[in-house]
Amino acid sequence: MRTTKSDAVVIGGGLAGICAALELLDAGRSVTILDRDNEENFGGLARESFGGIFVVGSREQKRAGIRDTPDLAFADWCAFAEFGPHDHWPRRWAEAYVQRCHDDVYRWLQARGIGFFPVPHWVERGQWAPGNSVPRFHIVWGSGRELALQLIARLHAHPNAAKLALHFDHRVEGFTTLMGEISGCCGVLEGSGEPFEAFGEAILVASGGINGSLEKVRQHWHADWRTPPPTILNGSHRYADGTLHDAVGRIGGNLTHLDKMWDYAAGVHHWKPRKPNHGLSIVPPRSALWLDWRGHRFAPPLVTGFDTRDLVTRVCATERQHSWQLLNRRIALKELAVSGAEFNPSIRDKKKLAFFRDLVFGNRWLVDEMLANCRDFVVAASLPDLVARMNALQEDDAVDLAAVTDAVLRYDAQIDRGPTFHNDEQLRRIAYLRNWKGDRIRTCKFQKILDPNALPLIAIREFIVSRKSLGGIQTDLQGRVLDASGNPIPRLYAAGEATGFGGGGMHGLRALEGSFLGGCVLSGRIAGQSIGGGTT
Ligand SMILES: Cc1cc2nc3c(=O)[nH]c(=O)nc-3n(C[C@H](O)[C@H](O)[C@H](O)COP(=O)(O)OP(=O)(O)OC[C@H]3O[C@@H](n4cnc5c(N)ncnc54)[C@H](O)[C@@H]3O)c2cc1C
Repeated sequence: MRTTKSDAVVIGGGLAGICAALELLDAGRSVTILDRDNEENFGGLARESFGGIFVVGSREQKRAGIRDTPDLAFADWCAFAEFGPHDHWPRRWAEAYVQRCHDDVYRWLQARGIGFFPVPHWVERGQWAPGNSVPRFHIVWGSGRELALQLIARLHAHPNAAKLALHFDHRVEGFTTLMGEISGCCGVLEGSGEPFEAFGEAILVASGGINGSLEKVRQHWHADWRTPPPTILNGSHRYADGTLHDAVGRIGGNLTHLDKMWDYAAGVHHWKPRKPNHGLSIVPPRSALWLDWRGHRFAPPLVTGFDTRDLVTRVCATERQHSWQLLNRRIALKELAVSGAEFNPSIRDKKKLAFFRDLVFGNRWLVDEMLANCRDFVVAASLPDLVARMNALQEDDAVDLAAVTDAVLRYDAQIDRGPTFHNDEQLRRIAYLRNWKGDRIRTCKFQKILDPNALPLIAIREFIVSRKSLGGIQTDLQGRVLDASGNPIPRLYAAGEATGFGGGGMHGLRALEGSFLGGCVLSGRIAGQSIGGGTT
């Protein structure tokens, strides 16, 4: 039996675990990080992420003329969250996040060499209820990969780095106890199955959410979304399977809001899957027509940028629970995007010229890559051909050519009449979105679908893609794991997505976006400081 001993044991080498470990080293404590994955993937999901972080009151906001305050952000957050009367800790974590994200996330990251793109994005503006009143999504220049790699470099270069032990391929399965108190954790080595134990004065669970297990996603499917769709793609971590949630539950830890998830409506299959059902999340082009599985346009139309959860709800309300987006090459060049570091190489590799080239002339690389490889994309020169290909992909005649043609002709006719006469909710939203400079440059100015200069036509079949857990292990504001009566379980802490980003669900029902990475930094730091004995 392999055994290790240190002041603190951190389960999970994702962003939350790394930030906690940095705080522990700052406090002069010895730390062991255990991760089930291999060293190449150190950094967890943050390494794959796009790198957008929710910040209030940043320099980038001020430069762009945005007046933002924690009070405004908290009001927006609560409107989106729809907290219930018993959501004491989620609400307190939300409050802490909006108050502290400037100093304890943004400035802290800047002090560690992380820079941000100059124009914040304006996401989750709210559909019928308010969302982000102003742009708050700050993109790390270098994407989430830079975020992870910079912080990992800080760990290795830390003056107390000798107090850090890293163990990869270690799958933690449960906790050890001594005289009724938690003393460590135990598990097996991936591959060999050799058992190990790691002992510490404090154990921090930072093992991510549950959304990497489609079984758990189905088990906790939210009632608002009807039954789980027949196809759900996996856009989370392959080891985010809730093993540690179950282990925390077995020793009396309180798990809350597991049915609250942040999934996306526009998932497509990855052609080089790194996990079963590996899905990519398309940022849905706003100028595309969003159609249901039969080819009928959603009414009212679906447009991204307002309420991601509502998009999922609307698609899940249809019979087959998948959808189509219909566009043309010109729209794709300007608007098609895929979330994550992998499909944003110019941002990830910090290539300014390539980034501006793609912005001005269109992202040819991405469009060609998706058309050549992704099985959910079909292309044709005419609507009858396109619909035939959509049906061939579905292996039936479900998509109705007459319905698709009607939707396209009506939409194009509105554009022909000119902006004065636009009476279409999607066109109204496009006009509104284009008021913000960050969106104007990425959104076509009323682009007709059948414009002969914009062809060929493209249809994208889109499934629900599972991503983030908004619920999880309940913690107090020191990151201590609470039992069902609200009492801390001695020596046990949790942070990051494992805690629904703090308190067992600090986002409530919906997230304003960027608060996931930000939530990992804050909750990881708080737990690390709390264990290390510093201020929280
Ligand atoms: C493509 C993509 C784009 C994203 N973009 C954004 C964005 O722009 N903004 C944003 O805010 N968020 C974004 N996210 C979400 C964000 O990246 C994650 O929510 C966040 O990184 C989670 O960090 P974590 O440390 O809590 O967990 P994880 O990153 O999941 O790390 C958990 C670690 O624990 C390990 N582990 C799991 N189980 C065990 C076990 N039993 N034993 C030992 N180790 C275990 C795993 O191997 C993993 O390394 C994105 C995610 C993806 C996939």
